[in-house]
Amino acid sequence: MNITDKLALTARENPTKTAYIFADKKTTYGELEGMVQKFANGLQKLGFRQGDHIALVLGNSPYYVIGLHGALRLGLTVIPMNPLYTPSEMAYMLKDGDVKGIITMDILMDKFIPIVDDLSTLEYIVNCESGKEVPGSIKKEQLPTSILRFQEVIANGQLPFTGPKLVEEDLAVILYTSGTTGKPKGAMLTHKNLYSNAQDVANYLHISQDDRVIAALPMFHVFCLTVSLNAPLLNGGTIIILPQFSPTEVFRVASDYQATVFAGVPTMYNYLLQSAKDNVDSFSSLRLCISGGAAMPVSLLESFEQAFNVKVSEGYGLSEAAPVTSFNPLDRPRKTGSIGQNIVNVINKVVDETGNELPPGEVGELVVQGPNVMKGYYKMVDETAATIRDGWLYTGDMARMDEDGYFYIVDRKKDMILVGGYNVYPREVEEVFYSNPSVVEVAVIGVPDPQTGEAVSAYVVVDNPDVKEIDLIEFSKQHLAKYKVPQSIYFLDELPKNTTGKILRKSLKEQVTNS
Ligand code: AMP
Repeated sequence: MNITDKLALTARENPTKTAYIFADKKTTYGELEGMVQKFANGLQKLGFRQGDHIALVLGNSPYYVIGLHGALRLGLTVIPMNPLYTPSEMAYMLKDGDVKGIITMDILMDKFIPIVDDLSTLEYIVNCESGKEVPGSIKKEQLPTSILRFQEVIANGQLPFTGPKLVEEDLAVILYTSGTTGKPKGAMLTHKNLYSNAQDVANYLHISQDDRVIAALPMFHVFCLTVSLNAPLLNGGTIIILPQFSPTEVFRVASDYQATVFAGVPTMYNYLLQSAKDNVDSFSSLRLCISGGAAMPVSLLESFEQAFNVKVSEGYGLSEAAPVTSFNPLDRPRKTGSIGQNIVNVINKVVDETGNELPPGEVGELVVQGPNVMKGYYKMVDETAATIRDGWLYTGDMARMDEDGYFYIVDRKKDMILVGGYNVYPREVEEVFYSNPSVVEVAVIGVPDPQTGEAVSAYVVVDNPDVKEIDLIEFSKQHLAKYKVPQSIYFLDELPKNTTGKILRKSLKEQVTNS
């Protein structure tokens, strides 16, 4: 079974059931399946073939669901991308990802003008209409690529359409995720990876036809893709799509549509809790809240459960594992502060530097094995070999396991910073700083932030005393998505280093903690 055949099967069995609700409009599985088939066939008529790559640069919307599953039905490999990326960030991934097509939205089209000339494999841009006024309206002749309307592609498609026969090992998506090297790497996830994880999560958390799941996380992120989108859709549930997270809208749709499941990162729980007073009853139909993507503070989890009288289950995952590897169980004791136990079919263990398993209580690197583990990084043989060793995926997270098989994340081995659920990699920000002629040295770290969990903070040494914090922030804004731009910049005479000359981020972090 692969995810696209499973969606077709679910649609055949539940043609009149609501697959998704968006802007208060319901769409049935029969209608969704029809649009998926037509979109797949429309793409085929344009010349897209099994194995071609197509980027999906969209916010949460039905376009996303149809675009994703339509492309998968044709056997294409989808590259989901954060629409907040700057043109240069996108250019890197579109080029590295060898995309033949981009599915995007009119309001984002301006981002592609400066970069399309450089994308030699690109043939088509499929444009979804936002219904909003488009700033600086783009003209077709500005782009060397053909631009087609999403609806046009669907209208050209014919029913019935059966895609090519797909096998488990066929690539379904490439998810770009940065590493400590600073260069984003494309995690290749197969149909088996995505299908097995969506099914295993659904089984573990009992997600079924009876569920109505609020999809407020960004769909380009693997947490949303598997937990809020595929797990319910492959099992006949209904997803309630929010264009973006807003506490008011979450409360409204939860109450209007009697939602049963909400999935979010801890900062979302924080925002919801702040508005708890007037909205307690809105969550009366929820049976489960799912937290992941970053560590859930125990005090927040407990206050949330108390305020809304709903269970919060924390899990853990990473892009390279499609993503979920462990979750707090529903039918066995839940342990706060823990990321839970192995989900079905997946094994986690904690190992030392030489790869030997450590006994309960000892801290080491978390490694994972299962049908969800990626095939490797696209075109990066060395990085793949460094990450998947002896059949185990090295997560880069430090963890310990207790006597009952519950895992606890201690710290991130890699220095990734999580800003409101978005990943920020210090090296990438540092490279932008280094491209400023006044910057001599820089180290970027994450500092605790009450709103976003973490905020980006930069420590710099400059050789020009006239350079001010605002100058460097403005400079960063030109090269980085907003959430990656440092919130604070500190000027130092020199950065702390170890004896081999490496900058000691840890000691900068300690300075922040102690100040
Ligand atoms: P991504 O590849 O974007 O999904 O990010 C994966 C990373 O998020 C993991 O390697 C962890 O560092 C972090 N992460 C995910 N879930 C949790 C959790 N429950 N607790 C702590 N860190 C988490």
